[in-house]
Amino acid sequence: MGALVVGGGIAGAACAAALSDAGVPAALRERGHRLGGRMASRTLRDTGTSFDGRVVDIGASYFTAGDPDFVTLVEALAARGIVRPWADGFHVAGPTGIEGVSGGAMRFAAPGGLRSVVEAMVGGIGGLDVATDALVGRVSLTPDGLIVDEAPVDAVAMCMPGPQARRVCEAMPDDPIPWEPVIAVTCVFDRRHWIELDGVFVNDDPVITWIADDGSRRGDDAPVLVAHVHPVLSARHLDDPGSVIPAAVAAVQRVLGIAPYPEWVDVHRWSFAKPLAAAEAGHWLHDEVDLGLAGDAWSGGPRVEAAWLSGRSLGRALAGRLVASGHGANR
Ligand SMILES: Cc1cc2nc3c(=O)[nH]c(=O)nc-3n(C[C@H](O)[C@H](O)[C@H](O)COP(=O)(O)OP(=O)(O)OC[C@H]3O[C@@H](n4cnc5c(N)ncnc54)[C@H](O)[C@@H]3O)c2cc1C
Repeated sequence: MGALVVGGGIAGAACAAALSDAGVPAALRERGHRLGGRMASRTLRDTGTSFDGRVVDIGASYFTAGDPDFVTLVEALAARGIVRPWADGFHVAGPTGIEGVSGGAMRFAAPGGLRSVVEAMVGGIGGLDVATDALVGRVSLTPDGLIVDEAPVDAVAMCMPGPQARRVCEAMPDDPIPWEPVIAVTCVFDRRHWIELDGVFVNDDPVITWIADDGSRRGDDAPVLVAHVHPVLSARHLDDPGSVIPAAVAAVQRVLGIAPYPEWVDVHRWSFAKPLAAAEAGHWLHDEVDLGLAGDAWSGGPRVEAAWLSGRSLGRALAGRLVASGHGANR
């Protein structure tokens, strides 16, 4: 027995770290093959290009750091080479092309892909029982306590978008936060055909909202772009995401002013990419049972830092209850 963290994104990693810091025995279960969640990095395979084996970020594009504790974590990861400052400004475009450059906060990227950040965080939690390819099918509240797939647990932290959590656990809050989808389109070119850039915010375009230069982001200058399809168009193509490729590639060519077609293109569908609204509570916790929900929707919005803050907030709250009730401390 102990606490079970369901979801191996950055919220789950932060939650598990907070439980561990409080001395609570914890396990983390991730349904995917790797940790990271929406901090997702795909390894290119069978592309017919020379970039097989290269990693591409197909979820979150980057992250920012403002909270002092998160800054400390990012600095520690940067000192280990896992994270690096990427850009503090991006190009801005309209439907017909690039119009200028906008400044902003420092955006951080990861040479090994953003999922490596979560993997490093989880790897640093001593004593944590971690399993991937481990779908949690049912979390139930019974008169005997919390049951997860027929096994009793002291506490459960659901660290994922609310709609995903509700599929598994009926006791989740029925929050009305709407989520928008994004289809990410990865384009591998033969060489760089575009001007030097890190990323492009595309405004007022019905097809794409953003283009990331993954070669710049990862620091190897590979001619790889990742475009995000507009949420309205993404929603229309969720059942057949590959069908958006022709329009998305044409938009990339139009915005960047380039003619060549990529040598390889593929898509990734995010049905729950970004919460359109967010609570500020940090997390949700059941009044009577040690069952909670965390994620970016509970701490300000669709940002890596928000998800980290939310996961930590839930981990601390659960640890406080478990230690107070004598279930927690293992030291
Ligand atoms: C296309 C896109 C672009 C983005 N761009 C940015 C950006 O530029 N900057 C930024 O800061 N943020 C960005 N974000 C948002 C950022 O990725 C998220 O805020 C953050 O990663 C959310 O982390 P999380 O841990 O809350 O959720 P997730 O990363 O979604 O993790 C939830 C995990 O739970 C797992 N899971 C679900 N159900 C189960 C189950 N039943 N059993 C076991 N495991 C389960 C999932 O597989 C997943 O790994 C972007 C997101 C997307 C999709």
